[in-house]
Amino acid sequence: MADRLVAAGPRRRRAAADPQALIAAARTGDPRGLARLVSLVEDESAELRPLLTAIAPLTGHAHIVGLTGAPGVGKSTVTGGLVRHYRTEGLRVGVLAVDPSSPFSGGALLGDRVRMQEHATDGEVFIRSMASRGHLGGLSLATPQALRILDAAGFDVVLIETVGVGQAEVEIASLADSALVVVAPGLGDSIQAAKAGILEIADIFVVNKSDRPGAQEVIRDLRTMLAMASYPAGDWKPPIVSTTAATGDGIGDLAAAIGEHQRWLADSGLLAQRRRARAREEISAIAVAELRRRMGALPGESRLDELADRVTAGELDPYSAADELISG
Ligand code: GDP
Repeated sequence: MADRLVAAGPRRRRAAADPQALIAAARTGDPRGLARLVSLVEDESAELRPLLTAIAPLTGHAHIVGLTGAPGVGKSTVTGGLVRHYRTEGLRVGVLAVDPSSPFSGGALLGDRVRMQEHATDGEVFIRSMASRGHLGGLSLATPQALRILDAAGFDVVLIETVGVGQAEVEIASLADSALVVVAPGLGDSIQAAKAGILEIADIFVVNKSDRPGAQEVIRDLRTMLAMASYPAGDWKPPIVSTTAATGDGIGDLAAAIGEHQRWLADSGLLAQRRRARAREEISAIAVAELRRRMGALPGESRLDELADRVTAGELDPYSAADELISG
């Protein structure tokens, strides 16, 4: 809970601490050390780089499960149900709640919504809302780093919950090994999901609020959509799992479906392939951000403006200007 208050609070300078010591503490279940490490990502701290270097050999263990879907479908409740389920199996669980549409404090908005007070004193569960603050490249760039930290901290499963079904959410959901798309009756969600291109990224569909009228229709609509999509032989065909997260009904089935997907990913070789593709994206995104920074193309920096003035005045052609910018 305390770390959510930190996340929600004003930007502040944290005293430097040895990131290696913090990660070692995090691996033994110290949530405060871990909260500070995730804050390094949010703050774009200079300490982040040596930390990521140090933890690189510790990563690759956690199974990353993404949950996305329109607000109100029950993502937080499903997340809570999964945390409870995994704890009964003795697994360590991390939860990252991310709102890519909010430039401000994700902590304030999401912290309250993640109803997992029951786990507040459980050192084997870590729950954190992420705010983008002024993060360069937004949460799409920051989230993978936070995931790395949780992975290195030794969690078996990391649940990453995003709000809404937009492009940024799709990007963040695609950071997961298993992407869950949560829909519920009464919100026209299955149709929205199709529009947002979510069908392509869904590994498992969760029809939550199956206690509500209309749940069967949602399942039927999804089945129709899935029947129209073509899945080459041997491909994973997303199952539809029906849950009533409010009571915990179906959460065991959902965990089983996630486990099945995890096994399929490993057996088919797709896990390594997906992680490699993600690493490529991550490297490119960091390199492009760094290049932009070096080019002085960020607001408030004048290098690009100077060159633009010279191009506008006919003193320089844009190709030569671009060369100057890159060689900078
Ligand atoms: P989120 O915005 O997608 O994270 O949704 P929440 O988890 O905050 O849930 C939104 C509302 O739906 C809350 O009032 C929940 O108590 C309720 N809710 C969640 N799951 C169920 C369910 O299975 N059945 C019913 N009837 N309500 C649910």
